Amino acid sequence: MNIRHHLDEATLLSYAAGSLSQGMALVVACHLSMCPHCRERANAQEAIGGSLLEDLKPAELSDDVLNNMLAMLDSPAAAPAELPVAPKPQSDSRLPAPLGDYLGCDLDKVPWKRIVSGISYYDLDCQSGGVSRLMRIAPGKNLLPHTHEGNELTLVLEGSFCDEIGRFARGDVADLDEQVEHQPLVDSNTDCICLIATDAPLKFTSLLGRLVQPVTGF
Ligand SMILES: [Zn+2]
Repeated sequence: MNIRHHLDEATLLSYAAGSLSQGMALVVACHLSMCPHCRERANAQEAIGGSLLEDLKPAELSDDVLNNMLAMLDSPAAAPAELPVAPKPQSDSRLPAPLGDYLGCDLDKVPWKRIVSGISYYDLDCQSGGVSRLMRIAPGKNLLPHTHEGNELTLVLEGSFCDEIGRFARGDVADLDEQVEHQPLVDSNTDCICLIATDAPLKFTSLLGRLVQPVTGF
């Protein structure tokens, strides 16, 4: 796999800080499971974060800190927070492991919902604001031109597409902010399947896009 498009520094930092939506964290975890380069960058960020902590000067503590700590240890345990999806090394499956955990089936078993001829989608059950979905687009089809109100992460799982930024094939991730308007066109001779997450609804710029948006929900 020859990955040419990687995650932004800011996206990796937000992922490490646990501040991404669940859908966007899933895209990041899937890319990390496919991309040794970004795994190395994520590890380097963690190391920098750790050394910054070590350099911090110890703060003065008031006398009741120890008592408060002991009181907290006695109180009933809070429910464990939901852990971010941990990137696992890629197995033989074509499906990135973190996505496999969510889907519970292979890509050919996904109950796709057709929007128009050649374009279908499947919403993932991890929506915490924004959109988290799989898109399946036939060769030669393009998505409607759109911009975003927030960030959009697109990870290619099968096939390829090209847009104003470049060509994206399996493992490539398009990490876009609201400045970018693009219209992806599928240029592979098989269906292009992508995992997409946004932290706000897409804004379609064409009249047709605005007409179908209330129907498709994005
Ligand atoms: Zn990468």
